[in-house]
Amino acid sequence: MIITKENSIWIKPYLDSNFIISGPCSAETRDQLINTAIELKKIGVKIFRAGIWKPRTKAIGFQGIGEEGLKWMQEVKTITNLDLAIEVANAKHIELALKYDIDIFWIGARTTTNPFSVNEISDSLKGSNKTILVKNPIHLDIKLWIGALERILSSGISQIGIIHRGFSSFYSSPFRNFPHWDKVIEVKKKFPELKLLVDPSHICGNTENIIDTIKIALSLKYDGIMIESHINPKKALTDSKQQVTPSELKNILKEIKIDKFNIDKNFFFDNQIDFINKNITELIKIRNSYEKLKK
Ligand code: PEP
Ligand code: MN
Repeated sequence: MIITKENSIWIKPYLDSNFIISGPCSAETRDQLINTAIELKKIGVKIFRAGIWKPRTKAIGFQGIGEEGLKWMQEVKTITNLDLAIEVANAKHIELALKYDIDIFWIGARTTTNPFSVNEISDSLKGSNKTILVKNPIHLDIKLWIGALERILSSGISQIGIIHRGFSSFYSSPFRNFPHWDKVIEVKKKFPELKLLVDPSHICGNTENIIDTIKIALSLKYDGIMIESHINPKKALTDSKQQVTPSELKNILKEIKIDKFNIDKNFFFDNQIDFINKNITELIKIRNSYEKLKK
């Protein structure tokens, strides 16, 4: 398996401005999708994302709109000429996504953890020339992430990229999913030719820390951003706290362009140190409870 610049040809058409994939967490209604896409097109987004099948934690509630949403996505393409990206988790999703001419597929954090699913996806995409982006697995298991990238590359799929969406953690922190930047840099070093995107929406879980998170990623030489946006985030059926409106996204893009390297280093280092302190405290508590059990 040789990884070369050829594996990143997919990104070339999008590189004339900041590279941004944006759109709602979930496709919910035809109007929501089309109205969001029209606004995003106006601010220079070139790839429109939406979740069609949602990997929800709970069995009740909205699980994604399914195939109907793919028809709306096709309409989005006709109206806006935006390229389309969706999450896929199995062969059936890929079969439908190919039928509805989706351009870019991403493997979600829950699916990256499962080598059977990654093999199934790779097999279904063979020979299709589509781009596949691989999110980090939910937990801090870098080997699983690397394994998924290797599986896809060795199955002959050539267009591939990496998305950093943070890692779930037992410890409390200002993030929904702790970034662990140091670990992601290890993966980047192993695959220097693959494009690396940051997903500040799933890292932050809110809209407040998004700008700092993007700035840190850019200062670490990430290649682009996948960010969730919704025409009316308050009404969103999934991830409503972390989605921005297209006009908020416009301001975010302005701000990161103006002072790309004026990063709040305290925010960066303080929250990492705080996280480590909490780990130490928690570990001491666990150790003490074992000491008690021994007595
Ligand atoms: C998403 O992008 O909406 C999503 C479900 O992401 P993740 O797999 O990172 O949780
Ligand atoms: Mn989401």
